[in-house]
Amino acid sequence: MSLFADLQALTAAARAATDAAKSREDLAAAKNLFLGRSGQLNNLMGRIKELPNAEKGAFGQAMNAAKNELTAAFETAAQKFAGAEKLLPDPTLPPKTRPLGTLHPLRQMRDRIAGIFGRLGFAVAGGPEMEDDFHNFQALNIPPDHPARDNAETFALVGGGLLRSQTSSVQIRTMEKMRPPIRILAPGSVYRPDAVDATHHYHFHQIEGLAVDTRVTLADLKSCLLFFAREMFGDAARIRLRPSFFPFTEPSAEMDVSCVFCGQAGCRICKNSGWIEVLGCGMIDPNVFREVGYDPEKYRGFAFGIGLDRMVMLTAGVNDIRLLTDSDLRFLRQFVA
Ligand SMILES: [Zn+2]
Repeated sequence: MSLFADLQALTAAARAATDAAKSREDLAAAKNLFLGRSGQLNNLMGRIKELPNAEKGAFGQAMNAAKNELTAAFETAAQKFAGAEKLLPDPTLPPKTRPLGTLHPLRQMRDRIAGIFGRLGFAVAGGPEMEDDFHNFQALNIPPDHPARDNAETFALVGGGLLRSQTSSVQIRTMEKMRPPIRILAPGSVYRPDAVDATHHYHFHQIEGLAVDTRVTLADLKSCLLFFAREMFGDAARIRLRPSFFPFTEPSAEMDVSCVFCGQAGCRICKNSGWIEVLGCGMIDPNVFREVGYDPEKYRGFAFGIGLDRMVMLTAGVNDIRLLTDSDLRFLRQFVA
């Protein structure tokens, strides 16, 4: 009866192998080992001649039953892996793409403004963020007793100097290096020790414009700024200049743009005034020309300074300046150019 016992043992081993299979390949190998043409069951069948004739029929029946049972067991086990096959990628789907980076909204605004003034002949200029007293204050006609020099208004650097509190320092560096005519745009970071809240930050961004020539007038400044306002806010935009004060310009003005968000009917953005404050500007003070060795009798010029952060907030409806420096991708991804 040992052949019957061997068949029983083989059947048990084959069942164990179907349970242990961890993949379709495991299962195929096990099936071939037991049920294949030269598999173990067929080998056992070859030994049927060892049995007495009376038992051969019964053994043949037992062998067929075992084969049928194991074939069914392998098929059942194969269904375990059918799900995995479905998870393979559908070859008809478009390929996964890597997310593309995009320019920071401040950079986009900087490029947009540089493009507008570029059409008027302004070239982009740069200067250091670590400045000295002369370029940040003295040459800009900011006397030693001016409140802007207060330690609470600037970051002093260990070993002397300071972090520039305005991009106007680039005006001075440019005029030191070049002779008129000059038309430059100086974008960059500026630093003031302000407490951080929704509208203030110790690190913010300006874009400064400077034009110097022998015949530059306030009318040139005004037409230049009107062109900018219309390119930025649309053809319907109007501007107005309000008298103001900056140490390095005389006369000085704040420029407002008519509120394009409400058509001057009054809204939250213009605080119901119909006007939005956009920039500061003015005609270069003769004292600034003297500091850089230009003859104030010969040259005239104008300058303007735009808050980049404010422009982004205004045009994109951002209500918290901190979003511009927090590097939160959920925010930045909304500015895909
Ligand atoms: Zn409005």
